[in-house]
Amino acid sequence: MTASATAPRIDTELRPEAIRIEGLRKSFGPLEVLKGVSLCAREGDVVAIIGGSGSGKSTMLRCINFLETPSAGRIVIGGEEVRMKPDGSPADRRQIEALRQRLGMVFQQFNLWSHRTILENLIEVPVHVLKVPKAEAITRAQRLLDRVGLSAKADTYPAFLSGGQQQRAAIARALCVDPRAMLFDEPTSALDPELVGEVLAVIRDLAAEGRTMILVTHEMKFAREVASHVIYLHNGVIEEEGPPEALFGAPKSDRLKQFLKSVG
Ligand code: ADP
Ligand code: MG
Repeated sequence: MTASATAPRIDTELRPEAIRIEGLRKSFGPLEVLKGVSLCAREGDVVAIIGGSGSGKSTMLRCINFLETPSAGRIVIGGEEVRMKPDGSPADRRQIEALRQRLGMVFQQFNLWSHRTILENLIEVPVHVLKVPKAEAITRAQRLLDRVGLSAKADTYPAFLSGGQQQRAAIARALCVDPRAMLFDEPTSALDPELVGEVLAVIRDLAAEGRTMILVTHEMKFAREVASHVIYLHNGVIEEEGPPEALFGAPKSDRLKQFLKSVG
């Protein structure tokens, strides 16, 4: 059978679900930040989340790995439902820990441990939490550092690296746990403009190899290029979502049109 641009993506429904959230709500005191958001990322999907500052993007991402406790809703990771109490707090801490270990989170501010070398940063969780034999963890870490172009920096401390290098190291660290999905929260927004490209190149490479990821980004061109699905969040609600061509090429909601204009 020959593939054509109009052929239905019949494989879409067959790929297993990696992350599903349903009706997710989160309040901070009286402030309701997420007002019932849902998404489903299947294995290999790249879901980009866009939206203005304060729209709830980080909170949504942080709820997925329980850095924030949801107020309500369902979260299912790799087919496993996160057991929550009626108030949204986790019913089983060990379940959360186990699930979180397999989600690679990359933050805006790199969050490397400053008093450890790059290699030590990479092997910390595998060795001390996942109990991977040290030699094995080091071999894997070196391979990942090589992949992000940092083999020469293994024994360097983070402060001696550029922001772009630190973020690439943080991505390699997240990959060390063999994550079932990567969560990126504006991974390039703390970088000097000339360093953005090298970090996007690493993320692009991960997308191309079929990594499942949820990516909060303000790099619209990049989102359009790598995402399989785009979610526009406004005021804690999914205002519009769809394939990148539709969302960027033919936005329907006035708010999204306005937003796309404002980010240029
Ligand atoms: P975004 O990432 O889209 O910029 P956030 O998810 O960081 O937005 O924040 C959404 C809203 O929630 C903002 O109004 C922010 O001030 C508020 N918020 C985020 N975290 C907290 C917190 N820990 N305590 C109180 N308010 C918070
Ligand atoms: Mg944010």
